[in-house]
Formats: sequence, structure tokens, C-alpha cells
Amino acid sequence: MRIVVLDLYVDGAWIPSVTTDLIEVLNPATGERIAQVPAGAAADVDRAVEAAARAREGWAATDPGERAKLVSRLADELERRQDELTDLVVAEVGTPRRTARWAQVGLGILDLREAAAAAADFPWEEPLRNSVIVREPVGVVGAITPWNYPLHQITAKIGAAFAAGCTVVVKASEVAPLTANLLAEAVHAVGVPAGVFNLVHGHGWTVGEALAAHPDVDMVSFTGSNAVGKRIIELSAGTVKRVSLELGGKSAAVLLADLTDEEFAKAVPHTVRACYMNGGQSCNAQTRMLVPRERLGAAEELAKRAAESYTLGDPTADGTRLGPMVTEAQRDKVLGYVRTGLSEGARLVTGSTEAWDGPGYFVAPTVLSDVSPEATVAQEEIFGPVLSIIPFDTEDEAVAIANGTIFGIAGAVWSTDAAHAEAVARRIRATQIEINGGGFNGAAPFGGFKQSGHGREGGAFGLEEFVEIKSMQFRPAS
Ligand code: NAD
Repeated sequence: MRIVVLDLYVDGAWIPSVTTDLIEVLNPATGERIAQVPAGAAADVDRAVEAAARAREGWAATDPGERAKLVSRLADELERRQDELTDLVVAEVGTPRRTARWAQVGLGILDLREAAAAAADFPWEEPLRNSVIVREPVGVVGAITPWNYPLHQITAKIGAAFAAGCTVVVKASEVAPLTANLLAEAVHAVGVPAGVFNLVHGHGWTVGEALAAHPDVDMVSFTGSNAVGKRIIELSAGTVKRVSLELGGKSAAVLLADLTDEEFAKAVPHTVRACYMNGGQSCNAQTRMLVPRERLGAAEELAKRAAESYTLGDPTADGTRLGPMVTEAQRDKVLGYVRTGLSEGARLVTGSTEAWDGPGYFVAPTVLSDVSPEATVAQEEIFGPVLSIIPFDTEDEAVAIANGTIFGIAGAVWSTDAAHAEAVARRIRATQIEINGGGFNGAAPFGGFKQSGHGREGGAFGLEEFVEIKSMQFRPAS
């Protein structure tokens, strides 16, 4: 791959950063440099925010139907570029190609389609007694995104923000910034007006901080770690910005005692898949599997078989199901967690505490069992292919364990009786709960209870984040 130095996209044009300092972008499967991204500066953010502020009024005044059409056209354009986008995600994140095509790029396209569809039915304006209630764009949005789904994390924000009539400055992850530039090309190609979409690159502590604190930014929409999420709240407090946060998770799959052996044998590998998706680098990964104590042995056997069926290696190869961790630091962090798990009493069912011998940042698919609900690996987000099996004795205990972390983003419940599973799902304090393996719904709300964040993304719920609600009171005609 040709090594490129990325530019910024500001006010409808490609411009260099004011700084010549660069950040290396590495291919995690090989450790090789594939691109360089500007280290960025507050002055870059100023230029982008100025452009977004200039474009704000004109864009807010466009008809919502026109904005939705543009969002749909952007989805079409990404579909046209799906192969190219997939190659970039594989190169910068290490997601196996087949998964990257639908789960990374396909999801990005779906975000835009759902936002456009939601805008068509959205109550932009409605009467209420002697008032008219209108939903208006929040204004200039700073969107700060992580590396794990580098396209989807941006499209989940801009689809809804564009449809709502907001202008946006995106600060993409410096770890995986390549798809963001291709997205900006697509935005340009479909004719999004200058200043409505701007892209800056750089480190979080310079560019991210400048964006989150900027006085002319009305809202920050952030996806990333809890530590940085807390910092975003502090930074935005100075100008009382609206803040939406999509943070970490420690989701539990609860396999209830009434499952038949056959159902249990389906639920376990399903959970392994839901844990290992994108190398376990997903905020909604089902990283804790809660099983009746008498079925612990069966769960271990099934999980071991499922985990060991994963081919680890080159993400461009057809048969690969597990790629590398995104960086060396991420790999070392994951391996450190596995060691901590073992030192706190868990048993290694399969996997390894050692880095694989060779280039790239790989971690073997790992299953820990007999994990205490209070253990570090059961409480903290690992962001790697590490499943913790936790036994329970009663259903109440299972619910308490599922709810017993600071997070609440997702989860799963399995029962032979869907109504029983639903009753348990209603007791779980998390946003997206799969019942008996129910599939993903792009129009359903995504986000977090508790410290997994504030606000929701997806369909109409995502749109609501980007509007202000206003009322105008009319005097009855006399
Ligand atoms: P991160 O928090 O380190 O970085 C996210 C973004 O914030 C990056 O663009 C980074 O440059 C920027 N940033 C870093 N420091 C900053 C600062 N001081 N001020 C402003 N911006 C700053 O997260 P990451 O390592 O890129 O991503 C992994 C994390 O993201 C995981 O914790 C994961 O759970 C979370 N995540 C959550 C969701 C969700 O929807 N809830 C989705 C994906 C990832």
C-alpha cells in the first residue's frame, strides 16, 4: 500500500494541517507503516469550527426532506465504494475482510439509511394547544470517534446530525483515520455543501480537547473510552454544551436454567461469536457468559470448541475469523488482563497469556472459567477476544451479576420460553438486549445505561440527540 499523508477536509476543500508533525498509522497485522496523519493543532480546529459555524444557518434552513435525500445519496456513494472502504478498514483495524465488509462498512451504510428513513417520519413540527412545537438543529457538532469501527462511529453521528440540520466537525481516531478521509471524499462527491462536514486529524489531547472546549461548538458527540468520556464532560462544562457519550461495556449473556441441551449448545457458540466480533474490540461485546452452575462443565466444553474453531491470522485471507488487536499496546493490555484473571482464580479453558511469535499484534481466542463476578476481568472492559464464564445458582443471582458492573450497553438472555427471557431482559439495566439470539436492528436505540454513556444513536433515537425543541405560543384570533 502506498504511504499517504492525510490532509484535513475543511469548508469543502482539502487543506494541510498548520503543523508538520505527523502520527504514524500502522497495519496491526504486520506492524508496517501504511500512512501518516497530521498530529493536528488547535488552530486546525478553529478553522474547521469557523467553517461549520458559517454553514450552520443555511443548512438548518434547508428542507428536512432535501437533507434526508442527501444522506441517502451518501449511503449510495459508500455502497459504490464498499470494496475500497473495506480494504482500508482491514488495513487500519485488522478486522477480517469478510466481517469488515458487512460489520464495518455495511453498518456504516445502514446508519445513513436509517437516519434518512427516520427523518422522513420525524415530527419536525406539530401543534400543541395554542402552540407550535418545532424541532430545530442543535447547531455545530463536534464528533470525536474511536478506532474500533472507524467508519460506522462517524456515520452513526453524521447521518443523524445532517438529517437534523447540524453542521459537523469530525475528529477521527488517530489510530485508524484512513476510512474517515474516504468518507470525506464521498461527502464531497455527493455535494454536501461546504462547511457542513469538516474533518480534522490529530491527537486527543490537542485536537480533541480543543474541539470539546470550543466556544462555538454547541454539542459534542463522543464515542470512546470512559476515561476520555469523563474528560469530555469537564471540557464541555465551560460552555454548557450538550454532550452525548457512547462509552465502554461489559455485557452479559445470561443462559437460563430451563434451556434444553440443544438450545444450550446453540447459545454458547453464539455468545462466543458475540464476544469475539471484531477481535472482541466492540463496546457491546458479550464478554461475560452467565451459566447455571450445574452446566459449567458443558459450557466450558462448548465454548472451548467454538473458540478453537477460530482461525487467527492475516485479516485479508478468506478463512480468517480473528485478526490482530489494533495496536501493540492494546495486545499487551489484553494479555495483561488474561494474566490478572488467572492470578485472581480463573481457569484458562483455552487461549494463551503470551503474544504470538511473529509480526502483528495477535491474541489467541481465550476463554476463562469459574470467574468471580467481582474479578477484574469480569468488571473491566478488556477489548480483546476474552470470554469469562461465570456460574450462577439462581435467576435472581444471575440478574444481579449481569447488573453488577458500572456498565450497561448490551446483553443477551436465553430461555426455552421467550416470555421468560423477556421478563429477565426487562430486569437488566442495559440498552440493547438480544433475546434467544434476536438479530441486530439498526433502527433500535444504541447507547448506554449507567457509565456506558448518555444519549442514544440509531434511527429516530439518534436524530433526537441532534435537535433542540422549541415552542411558539399563538394568541387565538379574536
Ligand atoms: P479513546 O477514548 O482513547 O479515544 C476516542 C477518541 O477520543 C479518539 O479520537 C481520541 O483521539 C479522542 N481523545 C482522546 N483523548 C482525548 C481528550 N483528552 N479530549 C478529547 N478527545 C480525546 O477510545 P479508543 O481507544 O479510540 O476506543 C476504544 C473505546 O471506545 C473503548 O472503551 C470502547 O468501549 C469505546 N467504544 C464505545 C462505543 C459505544 O458505542 N458505546 C463504541 C465503540 C467504542
